Amino acid sequence: MSVEAHKETMAFKAEVSQVLDLVIRSLYSNKEIFLRELVSNASDAIEKLRFESLTDESLLEGDGELRVRVSVDKDAGTLTISDNGIGMSREEVGDTIGSIASSGTRKFLEAMTGDAATDSQLIGQFGVGFYSAFIVADKVTLVTRRAGLPSNQGVRWESTGGGDYTVETVEKAGRGTDVILHLKDDEKEFLEPWRIRSIITKFSDHIAVPIEMLSEPTGEDDEKKEPEWEQINKGTALWQRNRAEISDEEYKDFYKTISHDFEEPLAWVHNRVEGTNEYTSLLYIPKNAPFDLWDRDQKHGVKLYVRRVFIMDEADKLMPMYLRFVKGVVDADDLPLNVSREILQHNRKIDAIRTGNVKRILGLLEKMAKDEPGKYADFWKAFGRVMKEGPAEDFANKEKIAGLLRFASTQSDDESVSLDTYIERMKEGQEKIYYITADTLAAAKNSPHLEIFKKKGIEVLLLTDRVDEWLMSHLTEYKEKAFQNVAKGELDLSAIKTKDSTDEEESKAEAMLDEKLIARLKKVLGDTVKDIRASERLTDSPACLVVEEQDMSSNLARVLSQLGQDAPKPVPIMELNAEHPLIQRLESEADEERFADLAKVLFDQAMLAEGGQLEDPATFVHRLNKLMLSLTD
Ligand code: ADP
Repeated sequence: MSVEAHKETMAFKAEVSQVLDLVIRSLYSNKEIFLRELVSNASDAIEKLRFESLTDESLLEGDGELRVRVSVDKDAGTLTISDNGIGMSREEVGDTIGSIASSGTRKFLEAMTGDAATDSQLIGQFGVGFYSAFIVADKVTLVTRRAGLPSNQGVRWESTGGGDYTVETVEKAGRGTDVILHLKDDEKEFLEPWRIRSIITKFSDHIAVPIEMLSEPTGEDDEKKEPEWEQINKGTALWQRNRAEISDEEYKDFYKTISHDFEEPLAWVHNRVEGTNEYTSLLYIPKNAPFDLWDRDQKHGVKLYVRRVFIMDEADKLMPMYLRFVKGVVDADDLPLNVSREILQHNRKIDAIRTGNVKRILGLLEKMAKDEPGKYADFWKAFGRVMKEGPAEDFANKEKIAGLLRFASTQSDDESVSLDTYIERMKEGQEKIYYITADTLAAAKNSPHLEIFKKKGIEVLLLTDRVDEWLMSHLTEYKEKAFQNVAKGELDLSAIKTKDSTDEEESKAEAMLDEKLIARLKKVLGDTVKDIRASERLTDSPACLVVEEQDMSSNLARVLSQLGQDAPKPVPIMELNAEHPLIQRLESEADEERFADLAKVLFDQAMLAEGGQLEDPATFVHRLNKLMLSLTD
């Protein structure tokens, strides 16, 4: 006997027991879903076998009738879901069933809120599907054999859902997996075949694999017919049916089975493309972002079928990264059945399908934004930050994606302003779309850089996501209007006609800085500034910092340094408000030491006001205190 055959008792990873408890608690009000999860795992296993057997027919072991069977044993109190699909090896059982995708488990737990509605949806997205069995069972036995392995290489896994489970190598004649649920005493309703039947027919009609149950016994005692296995679902692939014949309910149920999401989808598009590259796509936008949306190797949600045969999950070539939240199915008629990920990489047909998918999703979003702005706002809340990756990734659709973006602005704290709305509200003579980037909304809103814009009533977009810097480095214009960071370059608003752009403006332009003052300041501030000049931006603050047009913005430099990346810090230009009393005070300061203190404090506070960090905060405080003390002189 090999060592492997020993029965081992293993502890679940610590987090797993916690997840189990949560699953059971959060899903209890929705307990039938366990059946959907297990049947959908079983049908996935069958589809995987169907695919692998295309290249290795021996995997079928002479039994090509692929099906899922659900049966009850009233005496034993068990419900069994059995498939003759791909099965699992001992190692695979350990990896998948014993660890619940352990890498994500901790993150998942952190994401849990304690609110049942939110959490049950998280659980669905997390994919603890198999563990939903413990909602109704106090013991679960899984017996499986990987297709192609000899019959003495079966695996029996068992757990009562406590802290541990057992695995042993056993004999199993048929390939595939039996999941046996030992039902809890108060869950015996699931031993009633009619109950099971009604649950399964509710969600499984469109599952492309036959699901069978034993027929009810009929006839009199002596002529009693043996019960037979009969298919209880239609077994047609939903996406192959005519759009007009599919109800919204069916679309929603189908979404739930393929996505393991307990929520309904936000929207979907279903298309059949005819011609030289024929395919069907059924794509869904979920309501909520999955908890691992920001994970680098987050799974894509589109499944690829070729002529009804499942080929692969997470077909990432079918959707760009910024649309990775889209779930659904693509069924291609003109691809070879033996496509591999490598082939997909360089396939013109796949490229065309992807282009079509993107077009359909963007079209769906455009329509939603126009016709159902409330719904679009929900979408934006869930997925807006991902959409912001779009312009960098998808050059061809840059303008379209830009049209879907939403921003906060000086006229709205919510991210609800579209670029089109912005352009509509532009002032006469305004040619640019102005924006500011900062760490927080408060920092953006109160930045001295906005003073003149507020005064003139010119709208400025407030960008406070980290990804915004990345976005703006790829978005240079929209509908021929250039973007302009208000903290960069020289500002010229003279062409813009606003109600108060009259004499006052001219007088301001005349309020020049004294050359001598500039020279004195430069001497004190040295290399910390690139230049010192009079500001067009300020109305209330004495000073602000800007960078040159071609330099990296100070905010981006901060983001990069927070991310631990070394980036050369842009040397700022200090702009002064010549009319401010402090600047006038500075001009009249005869004491060189106090002049230097004032100048440095001025520089440091300009840095602070735009959300920057001081190189030497203690010295700043020291200088400030010195100046405060001198008030009593
Ligand atoms: P998910 O289906 O979301 O991946 P589950 O917990 O339901 O999460 O299943 C975990 C994994 O266990 C599956 O991805 C699959 O690899 C394996 N598995 C579950 N049920 C079966 C089955 N009936 N046949 C083969 N493999 C299965």
